[in-house]
Order: sequence, then structure tokens, then C-alpha cells
Amino acid sequence: MDTWLRSRMHELSDLHGVINLAAWDREVYLPSKAAPARAQQLSTLHALHHERLVDPRLGDALAHAAGPGAGAGSMTPDEQAMVRVLTRERERAVRVPARLVTALAAAQGEGIQAWREAREARSFARFQPALSALLALRREQADAQGHDGERYDALLEGFEPGMRVQRLTPVLTALRDALIPMVGALASVRRPPPAFLDGRAYDTDRQWRFTMRLLEAVGFDLEAGRQDLSIHPFTNALHAQDVRLTTRLDAKHPLSALFGTLHEAGHGLYEQGFAPEHQRTPLAAVPSMGLHESQSRLWENLVGRGRPFWVHHFPALKEAFPQALADVDLDGFHAGINHVAPSLIRVEADEVTYNLHIVLRYELELALLRDELPVSELPSAWNERMRRYLGLTPPDDTQGVLQDIHWAWGEWGYFPTYALGNLYAASLHAAAQRALPELDAHLAKGDTSPLRGWLRVQLHSQGFRLPAEERVRAITGEGLTDRDFLQHLRAKYGALYGLTLKG
Ligand SMILES: [Zn+2]
Repeated sequence: MDTWLRSRMHELSDLHGVINLAAWDREVYLPSKAAPARAQQLSTLHALHHERLVDPRLGDALAHAAGPGAGAGSMTPDEQAMVRVLTRERERAVRVPARLVTALAAAQGEGIQAWREAREARSFARFQPALSALLALRREQADAQGHDGERYDALLEGFEPGMRVQRLTPVLTALRDALIPMVGALASVRRPPPAFLDGRAYDTDRQWRFTMRLLEAVGFDLEAGRQDLSIHPFTNALHAQDVRLTTRLDAKHPLSALFGTLHEAGHGLYEQGFAPEHQRTPLAAVPSMGLHESQSRLWENLVGRGRPFWVHHFPALKEAFPQALADVDLDGFHAGINHVAPSLIRVEADEVTYNLHIVLRYELELALLRDELPVSELPSAWNERMRRYLGLTPPDDTQGVLQDIHWAWGEWGYFPTYALGNLYAASLHAAAQRALPELDAHLAKGDTSPLRGWLRVQLHSQGFRLPAEERVRAITGEGLTDRDFLQHLRAKYGALYGLTLKG
């Protein structure tokens, strides 16, 4: 690959890292008066990145590199993949006219504002005009980027490259139909929520120290990253050697810190695991948001809510919170962190009910983009599905259609990546158990290195060489499936609730 193209790749990657630094800082350390200035700085940086990306000289260099003459023959397979990944990213950017980019940014600002006001007023009607405007612009964007008659595909492509509605819908529909009776069976047991999470005090300094212990336990490199506090936990990677995580501390709900940290650590391990030779290139990237989420969910749920992990860590947790956990043993704790109950709020949902929240959103998003559902009917369509899938009725729109910020940004196509993450996580974990038969024994001894090492070789260090589903197929022998996830739920929750679960 010629040095000019290589240096442009480095430049785009560096700009991306600095954008992430400024965005991370905004959520973690920004003084309140600095918000408008930071918004301008970020907007300038985004514009610079966009300008560099759509630069016609970059287009020419990529076309030349991919062409039959000078390029492809002399490049390594990794360099060819770099050209492929960057060409795809560039073409998606080029196809959206500058006028539309500006209009979208403005509509997003208005969307967030209207969403906040609507939540304040507990009324969807206040949000509806802004949402309709965003939807019209996203339709335009989808048409500009191109699709085969399914607009949603063009938006999905922005988060889950290669995934299509035609592939996704049957999987999520089957998942939904299997989960509804499973949730019903578990809910019929009517187990009360665990007493240790009912108003007991958990010192927040001790919570913080425990989350640092968890980061070390899963092998997150604290010399190549750090953890801070923020209102909503997130991960922003500036570089594989500089990965920023956040968590949150709640004196009455310690699980939010414990599992927030494990979740973000899963994202962070992925970012820290990119191959050194891919640094500052388009290959030092996760192939999709769903695959990224597979790593957070793997550590949070498959490992972190599993009994073997707590065989090792529960004694230290009990030592950290001797009063709050005085009457709790390992089995009680394990049952408590896996309590299943249908609920209205997605971010508070357990492992079993969570995907039903996602399927609900996916079905509504698809109907909106297909013009099958008027925006005005969104709340009633939401509530109707909530009743059918989880047996609940939101008392008002803030606990229903207004609960997530995603649509206020006009982000259609993002929600399904959460479900894909859960499904990929279960399949990867099942493959890890086949490859490492002693996995649970290692975890019970506090040793996560075999699992981390396996993930690093199979997944993290591969970067963006392959699209997500192809990568998963290369590892597990099968692409997207709900089988491993459902098997995991049946085995785990069947045992915890003393039921034989089908579906
Ligand atoms: Zn996540």
C-alpha cells in the first residue's frame, strides 16, 4: 500500500481518537459552563473528519489500490481488507449530501430538546413533530445511501454492516415466540425480589474498590485504559492502549456498579485486544455494534452472572459489605442476581425479558420506516405490544415509548444490535466452553486468562478483517442463531427456578 494512503488512514484514526477523547471528557469531567464550547469543538472535529473522509483524492487512492493494476496484487490480505473497509465507510459518507448532514444535526438537537420536554410533560404529543421530522430525514438518508427496497437495511448497515432485515426478522420473531412462554413460566413462580437489594446500604467507596478489583479480575489493562464515573456507563476507545470506561455508584443498588463495570470491561477488552499491526488503520475496529455488545454481554451475563465466577469473588464481596450481605450465601446471591421479572424499563430488564424489549422496538422501527405505522400511533402500538409480550401496561409514556434516548437522536437500526449482542455472546460462550472444557473450573479459581486468551485470538485480534456474522461463523461454525442463547436460558433458569423450560 502506498505511503500516502497509509498516512491518510492514520490521520482518520487519530482524528477519531481525539473525537472520542473530547466526547469522553464531556461525559466525565466537563465543567457545566463548557458545554456550548465543547459542542462547537466536537462539531469542528467531526467536520474535519468528514472532510478528510470524503476527500476525492482519498477516493482515487482507494480505487487505485483496489484496482487490477498497481494495487491489489502487491498488497497483503490485511491491506486489501483495510482498503475494503475504508472504501465502504467512505461511500456511505459520500452518498449523504452535505445539506442532509446539516439538517440531520439540527433535527437531532431539536429531537433531544423535544424529547426532554415531552418526558417532563409525560406526553408523547410534545415529541411527535420533532420525531416525524427526524424520520423524514432518516428516510431521505436511507434512500441516498441506497437499499433494495427496504429502507431499514440502509440504517441497519450503519451499526451492523452486512446484516439485513430479511435475515434478522425471522431470527428475532422466533426468539420472541420462544421467550414469551418462558417469561410466563418463570413469572408464574412469583419469587419475591431479593431482600439484599431492598434498601440496604452499600458504601460507595467500597463499591468503587470492588469494581477496580473486577477490572483486574477480568484482565482489563489499567495501564492501557482507566475507569471513571459517569451518569450512564459507557466505553470510549481512543486507541487500543487508551480505553476509557465508566461506571456508576448507587448506595442502594450495588449491582448497577458491579455489572456496569463488567459490561463496559467486556467492551474495553475487545478494544484493547486489537492486533498491534492494525493500529491506526481501519482494521483496528469492531465489525459491528452487535459484535461489540456480544463482548460486554459475555462478561456481564454469561460469566458475571454465572455461579463459577462468584465462587471465587463472593467471599470478597461479602467481606466488603459484611452488614448488607450478612444473611446472604453464594446460592442466595446467585439467585438474587438472576431474578426474573417482567418490567417496563429496558435498561433494568433481566437477561430473560431483555430481548422482548428489543424485539418490540425493532418491530415498531421497521413499521415506521416502511410507512406501515403513523408516528401518532407509536404510543398505542408500544403499549399494545408491551401487554402481549410482557403482560404490562405503562402508566404513562415516560415509562413507555419515551424511555430511551435513541429515537430522540433519530437512531433507527441501533436497537437490534443489543439482541444480536446477546445471541452472539451465547454462541461465542458455547464455543469457548467446547474449546476450553475446564472453563468453569478456571473461573471458580478466579482465572479468566484462558477465556480472555481464547477471545483475543479468535475475535479481538481479528479486528475488522471479516463482517460480524462471518467472523462468528468462522469461530463457532454457525452464523446468527438463537439456539445457544435459548439453551443457555433453559439450562440456567430451569435450574434456578426448578422448572423444565421449553421453547
Ligand atoms: Zn454495551
